[in-house]
Amino acid sequence: MRVFSDFIVNLALFIACFFLINRMYPLEMISSRTSSTQSKLTLGFILGAFGIILMLFGFQITDTTILDYRQLAVISAALMGGFYASILSAIIIGLFRILYFGVNESSIIACLNILLLGSLSGMIVRYRLTYWRRWIALIGAMVIITSASLYYLLGKNSLYIILYFLAVMIFGSIFIAYLKYYLMRANLMEIQLKENEGRYRQLNALKEAVFQSATEVSIIVTDPTGLITLFNKGAEKMLGYAEDEMLGKLTPVNFHLEAEIERRGQELSELAGKEITGFDVLIKWSHRNNSDEREWTYVKKDGSLIIVDLLITPLQYEGELSGYVGIATDITAKKQAENRLIEANHLLQKLSTMDGLTGIANRRAFDERLRLEWKSAFTSQTPIALIIIDIDYFKAYNDTYGHIEGDECLKRVAMIFQRRMIQHGGLAARYGGEEFAVILPGMAIEEAFRTAEILRSDIESACIPHSGSKVHDAVTISAGVTATIPEAADLRLELLLEADTMLYQSKQNGRNRVTAAGITSTSV
Ligand code: GH3
Ligand code: MG
Ligand code: MG
Repeated sequence: MRVFSDFIVNLALFIACFFLINRMYPLEMISSRTSSTQSKLTLGFILGAFGIILMLFGFQITDTTILDYRQLAVISAALMGGFYASILSAIIIGLFRILYFGVNESSIIACLNILLLGSLSGMIVRYRLTYWRRWIALIGAMVIITSASLYYLLGKNSLYIILYFLAVMIFGSIFIAYLKYYLMRANLMEIQLKENEGRYRQLNALKEAVFQSATEVSIIVTDPTGLITLFNKGAEKMLGYAEDEMLGKLTPVNFHLEAEIERRGQELSELAGKEITGFDVLIKWSHRNNSDEREWTYVKKDGSLIIVDLLITPLQYEGELSGYVGIATDITAKKQAENRLIEANHLLQKLSTMDGLTGIANRRAFDERLRLEWKSAFTSQTPIALIIIDIDYFKAYNDTYGHIEGDECLKRVAMIFQRRMIQHGGLAARYGGEEFAVILPGMAIEEAFRTAEILRSDIESACIPHSGSKVHDAVTISAGVTATIPEAADLRLELLLEADTMLYQSKQNGRNRVTAAGITSTSV
């Protein structure tokens, strides 16, 4: 019974020592491969010293024979510190055995026993074996060496002591093997946990850095009710508010132009069939499409306005709505540039369709309008009329009054036509030189003729002096009129040619007159 309780004390000491070593050398508990020579030798020393303690608490069988778990200390040194640790622990234990218990056969055998086990264990751990195979090899070596020494020292009669010792040794070894296995796994898990935690911290720091470094983009996160939970540097810069003023106090609706929120609220209310107001106006649409991107006007802290492109996305966490994130980009400058471009385009459009001298439509605008009106008249089968006008003796006008006065005359004539067209509908254009053309959609020939007559009399009664004219002492015009209900989609040029022919006839017939197919005015 004494032997048993002494082994239990030995085992308890061993466990305590193992936990202590585990604290000091957690990595070596997993594997000796990565540790430095110094820590390997320190481990060998500690386990050697520990072997001494085990021996002191061992059980003395004869005057000179002591049994204990010192062999396990050597095996552990091999496992945790490799070959040199194993040899060192064996030397320490062996020397102490001789020094403390005296030089006798038993001490020398015990010393040789432990040195042999030390070197054998050191060699075994050099092989790449699985955890349990390595233990089996070490226990095997220990059993063979120890039973041989005990047999030599105690002889056949003490077979039961040998068997008992072996049973206790094997039990202790398996127990220690399991303990080491447990500590090894626990250490590995702790290392992994620390690594994961480190990685998580790093990732979080990275996210925070990205979140805050986006200084040109406002990122605002809210809880599901709309209260602000995150407000990045970009938002501070864009809106002029500090993060502290915002967190948990306001909803992003406070930054929006009230009229815009109301207008969008009405739109959404009509769609949803129920009233939508406040923060809901911002986030309702994002629920339908998983995000919502549109332009809004933000009111900054100083009251100034900016236009932003705002993307709102609902945040889901484990299937539950945890809030909303709004990412806004200031597009004020872009918008202003866009507006300037639109204005410039309008101007360009106007310039490209306007006659530079007179300000009325130019020939390009006339051709385009004629194409469209022809098409619509063809589709609706309604009439379309044309008037081609040419100033009489204009060359002589230039010769008499000069080119600049000639230009002034062209402007006045153009203005008279333009004013009339406002009343009659239709388009007056400068067709080229001192020729003008008029489109009269929906007019049959008689009405078009009347309109041309009005234009002719307008010019006549404007009384622009023209001493070079052979028909009158003021500027006059001749006109040719045609009208048709289009029979084909692309015969509009024929209508123009016919009008030109009519104009020619007006000239031929004495000028200052209007000619339409079959009708000629005689107003002179
Ligand atoms: P007609 O009665 O037969 O039409 O005689 P006309 O002298 O008007 O003859 P025509 O129509 O061939 O004359 C065109 C003249 O119009 C030639 C040119 O001096 C003048 N003209 C054309 N374009 C301009 C312009 O932009 N400014 C000025 N001042 N004169 C122009
Ligand atoms: Mg002419
Ligand atoms: Mg002329």
